[in-house]
Amino acid sequence: MSLPETLGFVGLGQMGEPMAAFIAKGETPLICYDRVPGLAPKGASEVTDLAELVAKSDTIFLSLPDGKIVNAVARDIAACADVAGKVVIDMSTIGPDAAKEANATLTAAGMTFIDAPVSGGRQGALKASITVIWSGSKAEMERHQPILDLFSRNSFHVGDTPGQGQAVKLLNNFLSATAMAASSEAVLFGLAHGVEMKVILDVVKVSTGNNTAIEDKFPNRILTGTYDAGFFAELLNKDVRLYSQFAEEAATSNLMGRRVAEIWQEVEDSLPPQSDFTRVFEVLQNRGAS
Ligand code: NAD
Repeated sequence: MSLPETLGFVGLGQMGEPMAAFIAKGETPLICYDRVPGLAPKGASEVTDLAELVAKSDTIFLSLPDGKIVNAVARDIAACADVAGKVVIDMSTIGPDAAKEANATLTAAGMTFIDAPVSGGRQGALKASITVIWSGSKAEMERHQPILDLFSRNSFHVGDTPGQGQAVKLLNNFLSATAMAASSEAVLFGLAHGVEMKVILDVVKVSTGNNTAIEDKFPNRILTGTYDAGFFAELLNKDVRLYSQFAEEAATSNLMGRRVAEIWQEVEDSLPPQSDFTRVFEVLQNRGAS
């Protein structure tokens, strides 16, 4: 199978813009669309109408906030003229049911839907080092591999059914969210005993409690006071809520999931919209033992 001749990219936010910027450096022409104009990276063209992007693109990437928005955009795409044979690769985190819904909408229009959420954060997107978690046609993954290689370091085919990629992405983000909240509590405990934050981080980083919060978020975003990991608390809360909801449905143990989901709901409620998720540390610090 040959490479697509023209690529489209919808959603140029904290993740989408850097991913699109790397795709634009490749050889395949790239057309971008966001509901906010002026976000397209250098080397890509921009349109202000989704239908124009759909008409001109063979493969369309999506990086949108949530399942409701992805499915609204999927319905708009399916309603465009001459869409049969085109491919939609959704890199948003939307949960298994929303991925299945988008798959049904687009396959009914003769299109191929790929559920391909990503991990690695904005920093990973800026360094083209993110992980792509692909579920759907393996042949399409092989065909698109040269494009995936432009913006990711690892790509995994985790199953043939859209929704399986979301399941792996959600369990990953549950672990990441748990590490972030638990590490915040642990660091506050050390500080309360008069130990400096940097010392705590140096010790744990080379000990058995190490995790991505200790290794990256604390030294680079919290110790610095910058709180700029590039992921909104409400988006992580959405992911943990979806994880807990699907764990209940799957009837797998959800003791931790339930509690971690409650914590992140409280974090979102305590912060202004679009606050960086690393501010969980401040929320737990202010909350104290209550
Ligand atoms: P974001 O809010 O920064 O970006 C979303 C973009 O979509 C915005 O530019 C917004 O204007 C655009 N948009 C919204 N509705 C639209 C519509 N109807 N049509 C066209 N454009 C529209 O979010 P983000 O952090 O870039 O995350 C995008 C997705 O990737 C989310 O599903 C998120 O959970 C997931 N994700 C984020 C990170 C991260 O660290 N930021 C990491 C992995 C996965």
